[in-house]
Formats: sequence, C-alpha cells, structure tokens
Amino acid sequence: MFSITHKSIKNDTRPFSLSSALTENVVRITTRIGKQQSEYKKSLLELTQGMNIMMRGPVGSFYLKDESPTLLIAGGIGITPFRSILKQIEEARNEVEKQIYLLYMGENKKFLFKDQLDEISKRTSTSVTYLDSREELHQEINKFSSLYMNNGKYYIAGPKSMVESVSNYLQGNQVAKQNIKKDAFFGY
Ligand SMILES: Cc1cc2nc3c(=O)[nH]c(=O)nc-3n(C[C@H](O)[C@H](O)[C@H](O)COP(=O)(O)OP(=O)(O)OC[C@H]3O[C@@H](n4cnc5c(N)ncnc54)[C@H](O)[C@@H]3O)c2cc1C
Repeated sequence: MFSITHKSIKNDTRPFSLSSALTENVVRITTRIGKQQSEYKKSLLELTQGMNIMMRGPVGSFYLKDESPTLLIAGGIGITPFRSILKQIEEARNEVEKQIYLLYMGENKKFLFKDQLDEISKRTSTSVTYLDSREELHQEINKFSSLYMNNGKYYIAGPKSMVESVSNYLQGNQVAKQNIKKDAFFGY
C-alpha cells in the first residue's frame, strides 16, 4: 500500500504489486499514467529523487505456493506481479523448477517487460505466450486445462473486468474455485 505524503490529497493510498523480485534489492512498482490523471497519479509524477512515499505491507496472498503446474494469466498492466515472481524464479534456479506457463494479453499489441520475459523463458522452464485476442487466450487456457485440469493452479492479474471474465471462463470449464487466485486491479 503506497501513500502520498508530500501533500494532502483525498484518497492518498493505492495498492500496487511489486514488480521487482527479492533478489533485485530494490522496491519497484510499475504503473500506467494516461492523459486523464487522478490526483494520486499527478502526485506520483511530482516525486523526485530524495522525496518520500509511505509504504506498508506486503499484503495479500498472490504468490506461488506449491509445485503444481501453474498457469499465469496477465492482462496488460497485470503483468507486474508475474514479472516479480518469474524474476525471482530465474534468480533462484537451484530450486526445483516447476512447469510454469505465462499467457500475456497485451494492450494494443504492447507487452511491457517483453525482453526480460523472453530472457527468463530461455533460462528457466517457464513458457511465455503473447496473445492479443480473447479467442487465442481461451485456446491456450484449454490446452493447459486439458493437460492438468484441477492438478494445476491458475493465477489471474489485470483489470478487474478481465480478471472476472477469465475466472468465470475457468469455472465454466470445471476448474475449481480454490485452484484460482486473482489479483483484480481497480481503476482500469
Ligand atoms: C492487488 C492490487 C494490485 C495492483 N497492482 C497494480 C500495479 O502493479 N500497477 C498499477 O498500475 N495498478 C495496480 N493496481 C491498481 C491501482 O491500485 C490503481 O487502482 C490504479 O493504478 C488506478 O489508479 P488511478 O489513481 O489512476 O485511478 P482511480 O483514482 O481509480 O481512477 C480511475 C480512472 O479515472 C480517471 N480519473 C480519476 N480521477 C480523475 C481526475 N481527477 N481527473 C480526470 N480523470 C480522473 C482516470 O482515468 C483513472 O485512470 C492494483 C490494485 C490492486 C487491488
């Protein structure tokens, strides 16, 4: 949870996923700031080196727990927690490697962190698939669920509407709710 402290604004706190990994020794967040800016995002843009922001956490349970085959599904800015998770796996390669599949739906064919993800996929047993339509996404989900169904774990992160629609799709295809974890971003 990151709070603006250098001035007083309404709604001064937002949750952000850390996009950095533990091994990188830096706390990094990644966000999108468009033309229509909230007071919060305007205040973020005012920050310069040496100024402070207040941080509290981490909170939530959006991390990989066991050795099950895992499907990560990112929509746009929802790549942030997965960048962190995969970077950590890349750095800790002496651990047992589980099978991880990342499905990444870009926005306007833009894929944040693409070069880094390609590097990670070369160096670990992670596969990364870039997609730009819902049909392609469903096909790739079906491939994974036909292999692993409820022996697999499913993680979804991105704008709230995308997360809900993918979660409904999975449950409609007999994936049990307890095997689905969601990080739904508000404000997109
Ligand atoms: C678990 C979790 C993890 C998250 N991780 C991330 C992350 O890694 N990266 C990330 O970017 N976000 C993340 N989010 C979402 C984040 O917390 C914000 O909700 C999001 O960034 C939008 O913030 P905002 O201040 O731009 O939008 P909000 O204040 O929610 O406003 C929504 C939209 O309304 C418009 N708007 C709002 N105020 C004004 C104004 N005064 N004038 C004109 N237009 C306005 C803007 O277009 C804005 O985008 C996460 C959320 C959750 C719950």
